[in-house]
Amino acid sequence: MAQLMKPLPEPLCAQCGRPILSETVEPAANSAFGPGKRENTSPRICHLCRRQTYDFDIARSFGRYSLPMSRAILLFKYGEVTPLGGWFAKRLAGLVRANPDAFSADVLVPVPLDAARFRERGYNQAELIARPLARILGIPFRSWLLVRTKPRPDKIRLTRRERWETVRGAYAAHKGAQVDKLRVLLVDDVFTTGATLDACSRALRQAGASRVVGLTVARALSQLTAPDMASPYQDLGE
Ligand SMILES: [Zn+2]
Repeated sequence: MAQLMKPLPEPLCAQCGRPILSETVEPAANSAFGPGKRENTSPRICHLCRRQTYDFDIARSFGRYSLPMSRAILLFKYGEVTPLGGWFAKRLAGLVRANPDAFSADVLVPVPLDAARFRERGYNQAELIARPLARILGIPFRSWLLVRTKPRPDKIRLTRRERWETVRGAYAAHKGAQVDKLRVLLVDDVFTTGATLDACSRALRQAGASRVVGLTVARALSQLTAPDMASPYQDLGE
């Protein structure tokens, strides 16, 4: 398990949590994280967040989407190695507890699968992480608050543009769900482009959520999107 724990290289974007080592960065006006341990530097935001790409308030991931991590997640997702969900939940709980203000939430919601995919797989991997995480943190678990209304295309590998297009408007708050003024902690397995968390956040916000914070086990880094690293990227569910 130790080899899965590859931390993300700092500094991270104060909003989306993307490593921004090689970018020209600007200080973030307001960050729940504040300067933290890096007392000599202001919080920074990446080029995507400067363009207000994402609807969610902040997003963070436990570690990088390295090859060992991608294998663990594929096993978890398709090999029914479901106990991994509890292990991932403990790692994410550590992340939350290190920044309790940034992650304070009223409900914890997993990113949903569409109905057909759920039937096919028999479980939602995000839910298997989110449920034990909610228990550890003592936050109410509300998997039914959010639904995926538009199915994911059957094509296995999606381009960056397709990832954004296929999730646009694909999620909605459940009819009659009470989301108004709620602070939502949204949980998924992998942050690839951020399109899924963004689409879920927009749906929750439309239903009245006051704050949406994304939390994923792994974060894909841009250098891993090179063609020779393509295999771990198959079907990340975005
Ligand atoms: Zn960012």
